[in-house]
Amino acid sequence: MSGWIKKLGGIVAALALLSGCGSDVTRNSGFAMGTYVEVTSPDPRASQIVFDEFARLEKIFSLYDKTSELSLLNQKGDLVVSADLFDVLERSAALTQRSLGAFDVTVAPLALLWKKAIKNGRLPAKEEVEAARSLVGFDKVYLDPETRRVKLLHEGVRIDLGGVAKGYAVDKAVRRLREAGVPSAIVNAGGDLYCLGRHRGKPWRVGVQGARPPETLVLRLDLADQAAATSGDYEQFFIFENKRYSHIINPKTGYPADSGVASATVVAPDAFTADGLATALVVLGGEAGRPMLAELPGVRVRLIDDLGKVHEL
Ligand code: ADP
Ligand code: MG
Repeated sequence: MSGWIKKLGGIVAALALLSGCGSDVTRNSGFAMGTYVEVTSPDPRASQIVFDEFARLEKIFSLYDKTSELSLLNQKGDLVVSADLFDVLERSAALTQRSLGAFDVTVAPLALLWKKAIKNGRLPAKEEVEAARSLVGFDKVYLDPETRRVKLLHEGVRIDLGGVAKGYAVDKAVRRLREAGVPSAIVNAGGDLYCLGRHRGKPWRVGVQGARPPETLVLRLDLADQAAATSGDYEQFFIFENKRYSHIINPKTGYPADSGVASATVVAPDAFTADGLATALVVLGGEAGRPMLAELPGVRVRLIDDLGKVHEL
């Protein structure tokens, strides 16, 4: 059995291939929130603005930094939180409703169980999966918008923002760019990206990789003031007895997503929506995922199935 295979985010999994992009833009990259963050802009101030915002939000959202605000919430189970953390949780709750539970940030106990099991080279026992699954569900979280108080309602309930934190950070960074008067940029956090404005009067052209193997297919997208995100089982997975286990978990079954979707690319008006929907679609698959997309303006979806076939939803 191989261990988790984690290719270093932005470079392999989903890099922005810019065409017609000359020396009128600068591009800088750095490591933040567990991935490569790449900023492309004609404004030389852009990358510092973005990296500062990512660093600020990483201190809030990180699951691995034991002093992050999220870790504090997970430890205490009852906390008045920052506007950013509250905002992410509220929007995550809305996405849980929309996706009928396929997307759920309370997936943490299951995500942790699967990571450990894979590291130790064995599948978790059914009982372990059941025990972790019983702690999952956003009905076990209480949010008070008046005071921004968050309560985890049972012992063992934990939150993992891995499915949306990058998208949220991309949106916030773009907001900072707008506030600073930066008219045009691409902010790409390992494939969760936003194209701000245009480049030489035309939409930015980005190529998003997302297939199996990842090198084989690039979806070209022309985006102006739009976001895109890709989720899939090609980046972090392990193979056991010829079956692929991805890091995206189906909260209903307690097992890694098994919908036949190898990757989902979502274009949306904002990166939070694109990121969250992409994760949800890997869990749900095309047919079950379609109703979730109703009445969402500006959302386009491309799925790549297990056989490498592309489907537009
Ligand atoms: P990546 O961040 O690897 O590009 P995703 O945006 O799909 O991919 O996020 C996957 C991460 O989201 C997992 O590593 C885990 O932390 C978390 N996660 C896994 N399953 C779910 C789920 N059903 N709902 C919400 N978050 C999930
Ligand atoms: Mg996601």
